[in-house]
Amino acid sequence: MDKLKEQYNNLGIDEKIYDYCNNVESELKERFDNIDKTAELNQLKVIKAMHDAKVSNECFNSSTGYGYGDIGRDTLEKVYANVFKGEDALVRSQITCGTHALAIALFSNLRPGDELLSPVGKPYDTLEEVIGIRQSKGSLKEYGVSYRQVDLINNKDFDYDGIKNALNDKTKLVTIQRSRGYATRESFGVDKIGKLITFIKKLNSDVIIMVDNCYGEFVEDKEPLEVGADMIVGSLIKNPGGGIAPMGGYIVGKKELIEQCSYRLTSPGLGKEVGASLNANLSLYQGLFLSPTVTASALKGAIYAANIYEKLGYNTFPRGEEMRHDIIQAIELRDEKALIEFCKGIQSASPVDSYVAPEPWDMPGYDDKVIMASGSFISGSSIELSADGPLREPYNVYFQGGLTWPSVKYGIINSLQKLYDSKLVIDSDLC
Ligand SMILES: *Cc1c(COP(=O)(O)O)cnc(C)c1O
Repeated sequence: MDKLKEQYNNLGIDEKIYDYCNNVESELKERFDNIDKTAELNQLKVIKAMHDAKVSNECFNSSTGYGYGDIGRDTLEKVYANVFKGEDALVRSQITCGTHALAIALFSNLRPGDELLSPVGKPYDTLEEVIGIRQSKGSLKEYGVSYRQVDLINNKDFDYDGIKNALNDKTKLVTIQRSRGYATRESFGVDKIGKLITFIKKLNSDVIIMVDNCYGEFVEDKEPLEVGADMIVGSLIKNPGGGIAPMGGYIVGKKELIEQCSYRLTSPGLGKEVGASLNANLSLYQGLFLSPTVTASALKGAIYAANIYEKLGYNTFPRGEEMRHDIIQAIELRDEKALIEFCKGIQSASPVDSYVAPEPWDMPGYDDKVIMASGSFISGSSIELSADGPLREPYNVYFQGGLTWPSVKYGIINSLQKLYDSKLVIDSDLC
């Protein structure tokens, strides 16, 4: 134990900070045990899927050119379909990010004259331009696909009457976002999503239900396809890539929907048959294999941070004791300097780029300056410990990820050390 304290001290952590954080951790044993149990279950699910698909060394070979007959790529898609309980999957390095995966799923399954419905309020920021909520070139709106939205009640409950009224003859696809994203609304548990799906399917059994699964994978012991969703979509530089996948996205679901997606991703007539994997296959398999425990580390980090900062008097979303449905943690720091110091703490604890200090900058698409901390192996990866927030009241920091529990723990302790060094947290707070 003393050795550990000494090692933290070598990294600039005061004894007082260390002791304070240790006390908080000691109260979280049961929560962490439950997270480990979910990780165990999901780990076994992944292994079973790899057994069933007969994953072999051959799967890690590379393909070039058209990529015809890429066994590794095709087998990985079988593994994904099995893990997430879909009929088929599209898991590709050519899917550049989560937004792209969502855009493929939407554009491929909607036609001019169709309507898209979001029954859970405004979708993730980047989807505004995909849908055409914000004016943009090439949006669904430009192709004659209309959009309707039903807001949540009190930022958490479904407005069932509103949803019933919004469904109409044109409604072709319903999009449900599992995670809070960068809003302060609640994230939805899989069972809660299931209730909404049942309600909608009763009114219209033909409507396609898509779930934006970003940040939700492996947080619970089941996934949205198991409660009636037709298609789930996500990014490989978040949970399911396990911090190892260097890029990519996935779509899993009903066979005919995935087929539509494949014709949009590549070309009508070609679909899933083409797409060279180069040398990516090994990383995508390894990442999926590690994802359940990596997601568990990230979850522990979120809960740890919420508890540490809550006890210091900060508002946290979700609250420290709340059940988790995604890996995002928001802390209302109330002070510009606190937000900057927090991010500096995360950055300087990172394995990569620890010596650079994040600076607020004018990010395209945002009104206020934004500060971002990320010292990740994979550029922009948010399953690795990262933090960011806009420089505006109430100075929320959003943070997520952490490949291993000790590294995310150190990152959070270091954020607190930075606040302490700047006298934003003082001795009398730490009891
Ligand atoms: C991250 C995220 C996206 C978009 O993913 P990118 O990879 O950043 O394009 C979409 N929806 C949600 C809920 C997300 O968290």
